[in-house]
Amino acid sequence: MCKRFLWKGDAQSKGKALIAWDTLCWHNVVGGLNITDVYIWNKAAILKHLWNLAQKKDKLWIVRVHTYYIKGRRPWEVAGQQASWMVRKIIQAGHWISEAGIPMTEIMDADDFTIKGMHKKLRGDFIKVPWRRLTCINQGNSKWIFILYLTIHRRLYTMDRLDKWGIHTDQVCALCKQELETHQHLFFSCTMAARI
Ligand SMILES: [Zn+2]
Repeated sequence: MCKRFLWKGDAQSKGKALIAWDTLCWHNVVGGLNITDVYIWNKAAILKHLWNLAQKKDKLWIVRVHTYYIKGRRPWEVAGQQASWMVRKIIQAGHWISEAGIPMTEIMDADDFTIKGMHKKLRGDFIKVPWRRLTCINQGNSKWIFILYLTIHRRLYTMDRLDKWGIHTDQVCALCKQELETHQHLFFSCTMAARI
């Protein structure tokens, strides 16, 4: 729904996504829009249950799982074949931590656990983009910033891109009527745009 709303303005109709959703879920400073990736967030939330198990929190379901399935081992070392689907999912969730290259004990033996912090760790580190200050600390109208964001990713519907998709129209810039309409032209060499 969020995706449809972003590209089409309503949650019902489907439209072409100009930028991959995964990219939009990255943090602003690495070229995303900092949208919460619910898929990774869900993994982090499940891992919180595993952490609760590892910490032997004083809750009824935890005592029960320890008594019947874990039996003195570390929760993520248990296969849990006999456990219910939900309990099995929790005790098997540890592989997401290993896959992220984080030692299990670093997370499971820590004194606190936040879903937000885990989400960040699972998402990993990316290289900061050099243009982050253009979109992060910009007092402009959010629509202008979004257009700028699309421009930086070279995703605006410029005539040269439409042509590549097989939509053949007059490719000359509608502003100056002199050169082909490309990102480079519109923002850096169009005489009319420069005057505006
Ligand atoms: Zn022009």
